[in-house]
Amino acid sequence: MTKWVYTFGDGAAEGRAGDRNLLGGKGANLAEMCSLGLPVPPGFTITTEACTWYYENGKTYPASLEADVAAALDHVAALTGRRFGDSANLLLVSVRSGARASMPGMLDTVLNLGLNDGTVEALAAESGDARFAYDSYRRFIQMYCDVVLGLDHEIFEEILEDRKASLGRDLDTELTAAEWQAVIGLYKARIEEELGRPFPQDPQEQLWGAIGAVFSSWMNQRAITYRRLHDIPASWGTAVNIQAMVFGNMGETSATGVAFTRNPSTGEKALYGEFLVNAQGEDVVAGIRTPQNITEAARVAAGSDKPSMQKLMPDAFGAFVDISRKLETHYRDMQDLEFTIERGKLWMLQTRSGKRTAKAALKIAVDMANEGLISKEEAVTRIDPASLDQLLHPTIDPKAERNVIGMGLPASPGAATGEIVFSSDEAEEARSVGRKVILVRVETSPEDIHGMHAAEGILTTRGGMTSHAAVVARGMGKPCVSGAGSLRVDQRNGTLMAMGMTLKKGDVVTIDGGNGQVLKGAVPMLQPELSGDFAAIMEWADAARRMKVRTNAETPADARMARSFGAEGIGLCRTEHMFFDGDRIVAMREMILAETEEGRRRALAKLLPMQRSDFLELFEIMAGLPVTIRLLDPPLHEFLPKTEEEIAEVAASMDVSAEKLRRRTEALHEFNPMLGHRGCRLAVSYPEIAEMQARAIFEAAVEAGRKAGKLVVPEIMVPLVGIVKELDYVKARIDAVAKAVMEEAGVEMDYLTGTMIELPRAAIRAQTIAETAEFFSFGTNDLTQTTFGISRDDASSFLETYRQKGIIDQDPFVSLDIEGVGELVRMAAEKGRKTRPEIKLGICGEHGGDPASISFCEEVGLDYVSCSPFRVPIARLAAAQAAIRKD
Ligand code: ADP
Ligand code: MG
Ligand code: MG
Repeated sequence: MTKWVYTFGDGAAEGRAGDRNLLGGKGANLAEMCSLGLPVPPGFTITTEACTWYYENGKTYPASLEADVAAALDHVAALTGRRFGDSANLLLVSVRSGARASMPGMLDTVLNLGLNDGTVEALAAESGDARFAYDSYRRFIQMYCDVVLGLDHEIFEEILEDRKASLGRDLDTELTAAEWQAVIGLYKARIEEELGRPFPQDPQEQLWGAIGAVFSSWMNQRAITYRRLHDIPASWGTAVNIQAMVFGNMGETSATGVAFTRNPSTGEKALYGEFLVNAQGEDVVAGIRTPQNITEAARVAAGSDKPSMQKLMPDAFGAFVDISRKLETHYRDMQDLEFTIERGKLWMLQTRSGKRTAKAALKIAVDMANEGLISKEEAVTRIDPASLDQLLHPTIDPKAERNVIGMGLPASPGAATGEIVFSSDEAEEARSVGRKVILVRVETSPEDIHGMHAAEGILTTRGGMTSHAAVVARGMGKPCVSGAGSLRVDQRNGTLMAMGMTLKKGDVVTIDGGNGQVLKGAVPMLQPELSGDFAAIMEWADAARRMKVRTNAETPADARMARSFGAEGIGLCRTEHMFFDGDRIVAMREMILAETEEGRRRALAKLLPMQRSDFLELFEIMAGLPVTIRLLDPPLHEFLPKTEEEIAEVAASMDVSAEKLRRRTEALHEFNPMLGHRGCRLAVSYPEIAEMQARAIFEAAVEAGRKAGKLVVPEIMVPLVGIVKELDYVKARIDAVAKAVMEEAGVEMDYLTGTMIELPRAAIRAQTIAETAEFFSFGTNDLTQTTFGISRDDASSFLETYRQKGIIDQDPFVSLDIEGVGELVRMAAEKGRKTRPEIKLGICGEHGGDPASISFCEEVGLDYVSCSPFRVPIARLAAAQAAIRKD
């Protein structure tokens, strides 16, 4: 026989905290609090299984449920000396929902159930407080109508407001018993009018109405939407808790409140919460009256003149402090508590682990580990890696005033202030003289990279969360607001129109990439730092972690930033990104557009010293840590000149006619550049490009080694290999250059040559490719594109539809598609190791900074993950958690 009902009360309970799946979070914790001997009003929980049964059986109840509920009510009667529906010894109950995962505000609670026109008189007589009795009754009617009978609560608010206005009263607490009685009369008349039948008077009918309402609320639209957003399966169901009422609205010695055992926004170890005298249930959070502080310290800090609970009700306060300590120690986590004081006596109504900010989470975890409440390893598992993002960028001081002049998408987190500029060149110019700017564009393109680097933040008026601006800004860790459609950029006149205002170049704005706001002027900021609690958690994470964490970086600024965040090398240096700046793009275009090897070599000779000095600087910054440099990879169209001006510039530098150059540009046009002449295909066609790059790398390595007095071991990565012979061909050129450079310099040097695995064919042929490749780096951006046959740049228009229709759970470009792309990764790793057991394995796609993907990398046994600098701390923590879970 299935047990559908679990009782609790008076120091004992049939359930435990561990029965969360069966009893829901609220029910399991009520049971646990009872077993701990805490003062909890007795009651019982109808299991989530009963809810599932209800839905599987055409919304009916299991046969024995009615008898089980009756027996449980008898049990409550035995503990309280009160009977449900019995005027002589009135028992009122609350009916509370509670799923496994907390679903705030989704499934509402009904209080004071069991009241009717008769029992309310009994309650008035027994309590000696008619005002209290009628207040309770009108609350019950309101809640029951809202939750169970589906009447809009506003009709009651209207009646009450009218009444209060005509009586000249501000607060609900000022109404007398007779006045409440009159309000109830109006409520009941209105209910009959709306429903065509009177408000139900039979307590049993009320009870089963409420139980049914809780079960059916599991399938209401709000709950369904919430579950979808939070990945909660519909099959879990909700439990129903039925519990004897205690009353916080029984006059001035009664109160109701909520509290956290530690401060949920700062993490400070101090009881934090609010309460209201002579109030019930959700009055504290409803904002009808201003709540009071619980502790004196908090009252003083808040500058409030309303007495604290500590002052007003010292006994109840003392008991509450003891209980809050006991619960925190018992659950070994910060608790979120709900309580009621009835005529001086404290009752606990709920406990659960409290939600907290990222900052508070760090402080609480570190403090608890230092207090010996949890282990350091446990502290590491308590932090959500993704939440660290909030702490890694400057943010607007929450106390600052915000003068919002526009709104866009929160494309890349963090806030930035600067003067407006409208072009990337202006941004760079301003930066070179030490001015801070916000780059404002309609949208950005690859040619804006130098401007984006130079700017503090980026603001676009067009484009979504996956627009060029958004993706590149996130990679750079720069704040970005994209698609701020209410703003108008007038490029020609150099103005930005916002809410009727015209801003000019040089005017100061602030963008908040965390919420998409555009603000006028400078706003006070808080700077990110990896110190204090954050640093402590990182240190403990590093101790638990197996995989290394590298960064994707090509600029000195990024490399330095990544090191300050704890990067252990560079996993991906994209050399093409080094060619957008200043004069370089012209030499680069010259190289691409040259029709002969000789012409290319001429352009390459200009690029060589630039590359060499870039690499030298990176080697120096990384001070002996591994650096993987990828040979030229991109589809060439990204570099082709577009405007007449650009064509003229390159033509002049090459000493050919603009017309000729235009024809050459057209000849290089490709239909599918992403699948076109790129990656190692370029090195096969034009080996001189790979040779120049290899030379720049080796010469820089020799020089860096000389300066530092120890050898640098460069890792050269050949992109987009699908056929081992491609790699063989390119590697032969690299080896030849290495030999030449070593002879010229008179030194011996180690280096590794490897490949990106970013084509399905490479994964399939990994066993053979590993005969040549000394390392694999999984380029999961391209591998995802080529495995799905979906172009990332075009995917946003339909992937969201796929998500909504349940065809995919997550964007595979954000979180690795473990069963598809992941399978290729796993296979290639295994095959690679078979050929070359010591082969180095890493990942360098955007997935290298995604916690779920990192967990998969740990499972497959990769040696490292590589991610953008700002995600390095997130990856360190996620890698540690994955290692801890694997143990
Ligand atoms: P939620 O899940 O929305 O927090 P609860 O079931 O916790 O809903 O109920 C909300 C509030 O109602 C509680 O915080 C408490 O103040 C009040 N409440 C619930 N049950 C009782 C009870 N038996 N006696 C007194 N107050 C209660
Ligand atoms: Mg609530
Ligand atoms: Mg609650």
